[in-house]
Amino acid sequence: MPKGDSKKSARTVGQKLGSMAAAARSAMGRYPQDVADSLRQRDLANFPPGDSVEARAHTDGARTATLPEVPLAETWRNLPDTAGRINGVCWLGHCSVLLKLGSHTVLTDPVFSPRIGVRIGPLTVGPKRLAAEIDVRSLPPVDLLLVSHAHFDHLDVPTLKALASKSTRVLTAAGTARLIPRGYGEVAALKWEQQVSIDGIAIAAMRPAHWGARTAWDRHRGFNSYVIDGAASSAERQRVLFAGDTAMTDTFAALAAEGLPQIDLGIFGIGAYQPWVDAHATPEQVVDMAERARVDALLPVHHSTFRLSDEPMDEPMVRLSEAVRAAADRGAKLRVVPPRLGHVMELLTQPDRD
Ligand SMILES: [Zn+2]
Repeated sequence: MPKGDSKKSARTVGQKLGSMAAAARSAMGRYPQDVADSLRQRDLANFPPGDSVEARAHTDGARTATLPEVPLAETWRNLPDTAGRINGVCWLGHCSVLLKLGSHTVLTDPVFSPRIGVRIGPLTVGPKRLAAEIDVRSLPPVDLLLVSHAHFDHLDVPTLKALASKSTRVLTAAGTARLIPRGYGEVAALKWEQQVSIDGIAIAAMRPAHWGARTAWDRHRGFNSYVIDGAASSAERQRVLFAGDTAMTDTFAALAAEGLPQIDLGIFGIGAYQPWVDAHATPEQVVDMAERARVDALLPVHHSTFRLSDEPMDEPMVRLSEAVRAAADRGAKLRVVPPRLGHVMELLTQPDRD
């Protein structure tokens, strides 16, 4: 495995010590040993090995699972704001991803509570967050929140309350808008096949292979994937597919069949498939879906954050690594954005890609 520091694509943008670093260190103490070992030994910092990683990381060079020492909002401010482009990507655990599209900041499925699930008085009954905690005060101002569906690991009311701002708009699935707390500038629900344009960014909802009920009594709730088109009017525009939760489906292959150009960044869940493969695709299935949707760079999410299923915590990333290698052996050009918690990445274009 090549060493990360020999990679020309890695760049250090380092300043020292902040409150996030201290928070990360204390949070690491609570990581279950298998996750911590997996993150260290398998070196997610440099996953996958070889030239398929062409993302520039804004990091201090630490090859561990700790958060960067430079405050996220500061790094974010210094990113480019080229119209129509994906100027920055940052995984914040599970399905929470910050995207800088043009000059706009989009945040998907924000879930930062120490525990998720049903609230009974002051208690929350459900899985504990195992990844390092993210302080919402460290985040840059968010222009648009995208919520895929109302399951507790995607729509977390305490997090949404903490993020509420009149300058933030929310797009969510049909039948879930009432779950969004007050305090946002606008909350809209998108049905499948509907599309809206917000500040020049086009967002279309699609139907993944999943479901939307939070309890036994709310089966009316929708569940979305989103295609986010960086700028409807720019020739340079890039596209993001946020798949939400999905089992294996042909939905995304249909995008390519309908003539949609390459998806520049595909955000797919790779975990919680054992025994829930009818609701959550396996890593191999995700590679298959991403290839067929003409995804250029894949950011794997829905892993290493909450224990939701029976597979070992590190298995999704191990299997994804193997599946991507197998795809490369077949000649596929799928790249993987290493899921480095809290680290801001810039995608570099592949010059030989048509
Ligand atoms: Zn989920």
